[in-house]
Amino acid sequence: MSALKDVAAYEESVLAGSARLRGIHADAVRRGRAAVSAAEAEAGTDHDALDDRLDALYADVLDDYAARASQEISEEQEQAWLRAIADLQGHAWSRLLTAHGVLGAARLLMSLDGVRGTGARKAEPDRRLAAAARTCVCGYATDGTMPRWLCQACSHALSAAWVDEEGRLLRRAPGLQAEVAGILDAVGSEISAARALGTEDSYTVEEAALSGARRRLARANRRHRDEVSRLDLTRWRELAGLVRRSSMPTMRSEARRARRRLGMAELSRLALRGSGGR
Ligand SMILES: [Zn+2]
Repeated sequence: MSALKDVAAYEESVLAGSARLRGIHADAVRRGRAAVSAAEAEAGTDHDALDDRLDALYADVLDDYAARASQEISEEQEQAWLRAIADLQGHAWSRLLTAHGVLGAARLLMSLDGVRGTGARKAEPDRRLAAAARTCVCGYATDGTMPRWLCQACSHALSAAWVDEEGRLLRRAPGLQAEVAGILDAVGSEISAARALGTEDSYTVEEAALSGARRRLARANRRHRDEVSRLDLTRWRELAGLVRRSSMPTMRSEARRARRRLGMAELSRLALRGSGGR
């Protein structure tokens, strides 16, 4: 449905017709994936450093592919591809593809992005749970058995991992990221103001602020569904599912309302600060 998938489908049809181009493309995919894995292993859990590295690495991989593939692509095919890329405006990869791409580059980027997270992403919750094991009373952090309700230490560890994963996804969706940041900023101030009231009304005011934020997040996610459709939400949903088992009611209830709305992990953390104090 999204424009990127249309570009990828067009690329596939051209690649299917040229064994030489297919060979060059497959080689670029193989070498690119190896480079991404190496960068990921080196960066460990430092996601920001990895994202910075990968932007430069993707550009290099595309340049390298373009240098070898260009002579296999006809003028007509290249023009059709450029028109399709122009329609991608606002997409996270639009600048990269325009500056460094030739036909085949969209599929190449998609396959590189698929490598990500196999190492660092899994390690992050594990590291957090290991730290929680010292104070865990429910058993999840110590032996991995799922209790009826997760203790506070495990709840905090998994909620933090959920927020990390959300941040990692949002960095790949700049349009949504900007909107989510604005919504969370606003609701953060509203919650602080509600708590400062210190009256019996403050709970109601805070609830209203949270429910307004949930609606705005839902709308923002719908508006940027092109960006969201490109992301792999598997891990995010898994972590949301775990946070739903928290013994802390505020955290649990926001996680239950999360559905597929990015921003909800961070909102659940704001809600918690609101109810429990920082
Ligand atoms: Zn525990």
